[in-house]
Amino acid sequence: MKKILAIDDQEDNLLSIKALTKFYLPNCSLFLAQSGEEGIEIAREEQPDTILLDIIMPEMDGYEVCRILKQDERTKNIPILMLSALGQDTEIRVKGLDLGADAFLAKPFIPTELTSQINVMLRIKEVEDMLRMEKEVLEETVKERTKELYVINIKQKADIIKLTKTEEELKIALEKATESDRLKIAFLQNISHEIRTPMNGIYGFSELLRSNHLSGDEQQSYIDIIMKSGDRMLNTLNDIMDISRLETGNVALNISTTNVNDELENLLILFRPEVEKKGLQFNYTTDLQTADAVIETDSDKLHSVMFNLISNSIKYSHNGNIEFGYVKKEDCLEFYVSDTGIGIPAERQNAIFDRFVKSDIEDKEVYEGSGLGLSISKAYIEMLKGSMWVDSVEGQGSKFYFTLPYYPTSRLIIESDAESPVIQFEEHIEGLKILIVEDDLTATEYLDIIVQDISTTILHASNGSEAINLCQNNSDIDLILMDLKMPIIDGYEATKQIREFNKQVIIVAQTAFALVGDREKALNAGCDEYISKPLNKTALIEIINRLFG
Ligand code: ADP
Repeated sequence: MKKILAIDDQEDNLLSIKALTKFYLPNCSLFLAQSGEEGIEIAREEQPDTILLDIIMPEMDGYEVCRILKQDERTKNIPILMLSALGQDTEIRVKGLDLGADAFLAKPFIPTELTSQINVMLRIKEVEDMLRMEKEVLEETVKERTKELYVINIKQKADIIKLTKTEEELKIALEKATESDRLKIAFLQNISHEIRTPMNGIYGFSELLRSNHLSGDEQQSYIDIIMKSGDRMLNTLNDIMDISRLETGNVALNISTTNVNDELENLLILFRPEVEKKGLQFNYTTDLQTADAVIETDSDKLHSVMFNLISNSIKYSHNGNIEFGYVKKEDCLEFYVSDTGIGIPAERQNAIFDRFVKSDIEDKEVYEGSGLGLSISKAYIEMLKGSMWVDSVEGQGSKFYFTLPYYPTSRLIIESDAESPVIQFEEHIEGLKILIVEDDLTATEYLDIIVQDISTTILHASNGSEAINLCQNNSDIDLILMDLKMPIIDGYEATKQIREFNKQVIIVAQTAFALVGDREKALNAGCDEYISKPLNKTALIEIINRLFG
């Protein structure tokens, strides 16, 4: 049902409109207002389909009512038919139309004319409402489509970005894989070189030692070369073991009170002969009194880092001087090792701390080294809560720095170590029956020589199975030196089987693997102690002294 609102201050006029609409427009409901304010209120509430508005009214005239209704969002679309007793005055019409009125009708109105005017208004409203609705639907559809297109667009963009990213990632991964392959091959070539070169020295000079015509000095110098080659090979192997331990997170810290002044002095003594031989100057500086130069750190790792840096300085310097030492900073000691050597090109100064990098340098001269030392040193220093970096100018020299935390609370005076005595077997250890289980002939001969002073009988087995048999037939064996990696039955299994019938015999495991966990595995199998190869005579004597002392 259509709604009509009539606003007029004259009750008579309202009554005649009421009578008229009842007669001519029975399907419409009529709302009446006697003032402008009342009319506006009803219009806002009822949303009529057309408004009949008188112009001349007290307080608020029809123009003002029309202006307010047309400015209000809620009522602006309702058609207004202005009713005026002032007839056809053009000025009045223009003013009304300017304010938004839709039509005019002069009073007194002819009923049919008013009815048809109202019908026109209602039709306009209906059509306009429909158009507005369609417009809204259209706008909504456009909005939805725009949104969809936006989402599709964004998705497409994201897909493109993803594709580009994947492509880039693949490219980087491929480059990395190629680079890592290249480094791996270079690393293996370098390691092979680092093992073969000293091996060559050992073979070659051992061969020469066989000659009968050598003087004592010559023999001694060949032996020195063999020992040096052995050391070099061992360094390479130790580096590889250290890296593998760092990779698997199997490096433990052994923190103790360390006097850094003593440590530096020992390094000076240790390296002086080598440095002097190369004709280089060598000195060190300390920044604290010896009594204050005390830190809590892993002294083995500190030693190994300094050792590596000083060795590198010597290796890469042909003249000038090498200096090392430390400076006390606010809460740390800043160590340094500087040289006037070949220096490092700026673009390589980060890479030298990466693993396997040495082999990547196209040295004109060939410097020995696995290329692992600096990455191990940096990893150690970081484990000890410090940092490591380098300043270097190609052709002028390098200065390596690292820091270690310094807590001044522990003021300790550490006596410098007296020269360590040569360890001997304790006197009462003698007459032992020893079984050497070893598949390598050289290692067997070496062990024979070490233990000959304390044994009456030395038995030999070259695999686990032979060892078990010998133990079954010789229940009086005192000591077994058990290699772990052997053919047929390995050392772990042999130990386990021997323990089934002999709990007393002392078994010392020896292995060339030296991996973390080996020791526990050997002890779990039933060994009493563990020693890693290459066998250190002093360490083995210490173990035997302890086990038989
Ligand atoms: P390496 O066993 O080859 O010496 P490092 O990891 O100790 O391995 O060193 C990596 C590389 O850094 C070396 O191969 C060398 O190119 C460079 N380097 C290290 N120390 C120095 C130095 N004092 N002077 C010049 N170059 C150095």
